[in-house]
Amino acid sequence: MAGEPQADCLFCKIVSGEVPADVVRETETTVAFRDINPQAPTHVLVIPKAHHADAGSLAEADPRLVADVLREAREVAAHDKVDSTGYRIVFNTGSGAGQTVWHAHAHVLGGRGLNWPPG
Ligand code: 5GP
Repeated sequence: MAGEPQADCLFCKIVSGEVPADVVRETETTVAFRDINPQAPTHVLVIPKAHHADAGSLAEADPRLVADVLREAREVAAHDKVDSTGYRIVFNTGSGAGQTVWHAHAHVLGGRGLNWPPG
């Protein structure tokens, strides 16, 4: 069921503490932790604690939770002091766009120049 923890989901296991992570911030509804394979000096994943497979299904099921994730992305940027230089928030959605973990997550990238369009 949408929102319920999934036994086979890596990010649900990070939420529960079963899989360790370098947690930057946590709120009632979200966790922000550093990506294990960082693509920039700041590369933090912000996830809803509730399980939703991707950004679109999260938005459909719980729009307020999307706002929580985006607010936390901003807080992470301020925490890592990349807010003044600029940062990028990315939701890879679908395997063709590079999504590999099927629990909605925002990548927060900063601390280096970020080209456009992304690869
Ligand atoms: P996606 O490819 O789905 O957009 O992003 C998934 C991200 O999760 C990747 O950037 C990948 O490096 C990161 N990742 C995969 N496994 C782990 C893990 O066990 N711990 C952490 N912290 N990040 C992970």
